[in-house]
Amino acid sequence: MFDFDTNITYLTGIGPAKALILQKEMGVFNANQLLNLFPNRYVDKSKMFTIRELQAGNTEVQIKGVVTELKEVKQKRGSRLVATFKDETGRMELVWFRSNRWLKSGIKINEPYVIFGKLNFFNGSFSMPHPDMELEVNYKKSIAAGLQAVYPSTEKMSAKGFNNKVMSKAIQHLIKEAYPFIQETLSDEILEEYNLLSKKEALLHIHFPKNQEYLARAQKRLKFEEFFFIQTQLIRNKLVRQDKIKGFVFEQVGAYFNDFYQSGLKFDLTGAQKRVLKEIRADLASGAHMNRLLQGDVGAGKTIVALLTMLLALDNHFQAAILAPTAILATQHYQAISELVAPFNISVKLLTGATKTKERRVIHESLEDGSLQILIGTHAVLEDKVVFKNLGLAVIDEQHRFGVAQRSKMWMKNKLPPHILIMTATPIPRTLAMSAYGDLDVSVIDELPPGRKPVQTVHRFDSARLRVFKFMRDEIAKGRQVYVVYPLIEESEAMDYKDLQDGYESIQREFPLPDYRISIVHGKMKPEDKEYEMQRFVKGETQIMVATTVIEVGVNVPNASVMIIESAERFGLSQLHQLRGRVGRGADQSYCILMSGVKLSNDSKTRLETMVRTSDGFEIAEVDLKLRGPGNLMGTQQSGVLNLKIADLVRDSKELHMARNTALELLREDPNLEMAKNLPIKNAYQQIHKRTSIWANIS
Ligand code: ADP
Ligand code: MG
Repeated sequence: MFDFDTNITYLTGIGPAKALILQKEMGVFNANQLLNLFPNRYVDKSKMFTIRELQAGNTEVQIKGVVTELKEVKQKRGSRLVATFKDETGRMELVWFRSNRWLKSGIKINEPYVIFGKLNFFNGSFSMPHPDMELEVNYKKSIAAGLQAVYPSTEKMSAKGFNNKVMSKAIQHLIKEAYPFIQETLSDEILEEYNLLSKKEALLHIHFPKNQEYLARAQKRLKFEEFFFIQTQLIRNKLVRQDKIKGFVFEQVGAYFNDFYQSGLKFDLTGAQKRVLKEIRADLASGAHMNRLLQGDVGAGKTIVALLTMLLALDNHFQAAILAPTAILATQHYQAISELVAPFNISVKLLTGATKTKERRVIHESLEDGSLQILIGTHAVLEDKVVFKNLGLAVIDEQHRFGVAQRSKMWMKNKLPPHILIMTATPIPRTLAMSAYGDLDVSVIDELPPGRKPVQTVHRFDSARLRVFKFMRDEIAKGRQVYVVYPLIEESEAMDYKDLQDGYESIQREFPLPDYRISIVHGKMKPEDKEYEMQRFVKGETQIMVATTVIEVGVNVPNASVMIIESAERFGLSQLHQLRGRVGRGADQSYCILMSGVKLSNDSKTRLETMVRTSDGFEIAEVDLKLRGPGNLMGTQQSGVLNLKIADLVRDSKELHMARNTALELLREDPNLEMAKNLPIKNAYQQIHKRTSIWANIS
């Protein structure tokens, strides 16, 4: 038997000192973790070069030969070790920039070695710094002669002599010993369906690939497996929730919903809005707890869907709440919603950090006695003091700003969790949604209300500023309003405020009183002042709004038709997309002007080009995912789920789809993994549960 929990200290080729380094640098503590420490890349050692064959263009080469001479060359500090290396065709030098006794005495003169490393070409001769060296007799004994794995490493590891050869040797010993005991984790059925390597073979060939073909198959199998178990977990969570977590049943569609639908709506719902409402209503009537993600591009009309859902809660004698990430956004929701429901005798209140103590008390009391029906607010709503009589639904706007912990805090407010509707305007690529939100149900409003004209987007260099000012003047003359947005990045806050201030001053000069009035809003202002300035712009008292990204989310001023983004190269794609979504909300043609310097990185170029090319939020999200990788896209809160060891959400979407479908099929047929054929899966699943806690992080 082999114990996969064996501490690595006890493995051949490791020992206490090396074990400590591995633990510290790689987080590898036991045999199983070491087996699953996958190589970063592979070098091709299938070819053996002779020295005469070497060419200046060669990068990494493998050569057979003997060391004929070793000499130490004094240098400023210590000395360098230089070896003369020969084969039948020629000679070259091997160089170590720091000589030491251990190194010098380790090298055997006139015994055949196989060396491998990067080739340097200087003054007509070749040399190889810090070669990997192995006696030919040992080389012949090792498993891998073709593709050689290169493992992740750190500076500390190389400093301590823990190089790739040491790692490779240790893993080779481990594999030899553990191989017969490596448990299969997938069912025969799945292995056959996709023609996958067995777990044993996959681990063997990921570390010691026989050839390219086996390497590819090993990678495919391990990627599939990685996705498969995440998907199985996510889908099971969802099933368990639907099955076990009882939710309030909203059976009735009553007067609140119907009256509003009849006379409160100023427009027809789009097809997508209707479909999404149907999905939500089905959830709410099912008796299970709803945990639904509502995706829809900026301006797609999520608010109305949220409101109608809240009215369903009211019809069933429950309270409802909306949580927004910022006070400005909460206030906007409050204004929009209280206006919409004004004719219908519904009590709505706003709770933010700025709410006065007296008003707060009124809110707390009316929440507890149930007379307050809808509460809209920021994080303030999550405070323990805030107690609902019977919260039936919580709508969370712009989910990416709330952590999972905060989501679950809403749960604590009741005996039964309120239904949760998460609204996000940041479209999430399907692959990511499947991984990060695989346990949520997803509804998508993929249709904009009719009559919207796409925002015309252009990219202009700073040198074109005068023309841009002229354009602003023309638009303002037509009665339109303009946003000018500056980046504000924490690291460069002082500089950014200076840019904002300079920009504000130059706009004041170009657009002087009394013809023009300008609002300015930024993060250093008091909430009241921000609010005052916002309101002036909303009411049309000012024509230009100079702001930092505080206006990124949610602000709705349909008469604003121009969005100018300064230093656009410094914004991320999703931010640019959000900002652009602030215009194009009215009947007029709207414009987005991306201003930038001339010097642009490739990524910046791609971002700006993407913005000019498309307004499709999903397409933009895909590009963003490719540029930034999944971790950054979602913030850190889901990183547990996204902390993939071998698979890659962007490159391996094929394996992901395969894995998700397979997991769905599996759980449809055998939801509790009770069938004999699925025993390997069940065992592996339980092992994963034992070994990791990332699952606990998923809501
Ligand atoms: P978002 O999805 O960005 O939250 P909103 O809910 O703020 O979008 O809606 C944007 C604007 O579109 C609002 O002014 C809203 O009244 C309007 N709107 C929403 N649905 C429709 C519709 N079906 N037809 C016309 N206008 C709509
Ligand atoms: Mg919105």
